[in-house]
Amino acid sequence: MQELDFSNLLKKYDLKATPQRVIFLRELQKAGHLSIEELESRVKSVIPTISTATIYKNINSMVQKGLLHEVKLPGIKTKYEITKNRHAHFFCESCQKVLDIEINTSCIYQEIDKEFSINEVNISIQGICKECMKDNKKVS
Ligand SMILES: [Zn+2]
Ligand SMILES: [Zn+2]
Repeated sequence: MQELDFSNLLKKYDLKATPQRVIFLRELQKAGHLSIEELESRVKSVIPTISTATIYKNINSMVQKGLLHEVKLPGIKTKYEITKNRHAHFFCESCQKVLDIEINTSCIYQEIDKEFSINEVNISIQGICKECMKDNKKVS
């Protein structure tokens, strides 16, 4: 996977491109979706001296500016991802993995935008991912 130009991306969202923020974004790009605790442990392995408060502060400002997106899934902690095109999420109940599903959600907006003012559409699907299905077959 090619690394995004994080400094430019931060500037685009009107945020200062600090080395810390670049590290947060790099970890998020690698993992896709991380809870704040998962991100914290990854960031601390790169910058052991960073404080939890600093991590939370940076995440909040990146969410406020729209660079990071909160992914809320039923039954698990909020995860964060780098904002991209609208997509749905698949959550594997076996390995707890969160996967992006590219489906066109714009029809939802078209369909009900006349009646409601939509801020956000969250589509999440729960089930068992391909790898876990394979593992299950091996066992049985
Ligand atoms: Zn799985
Ligand atoms: Zn996603």
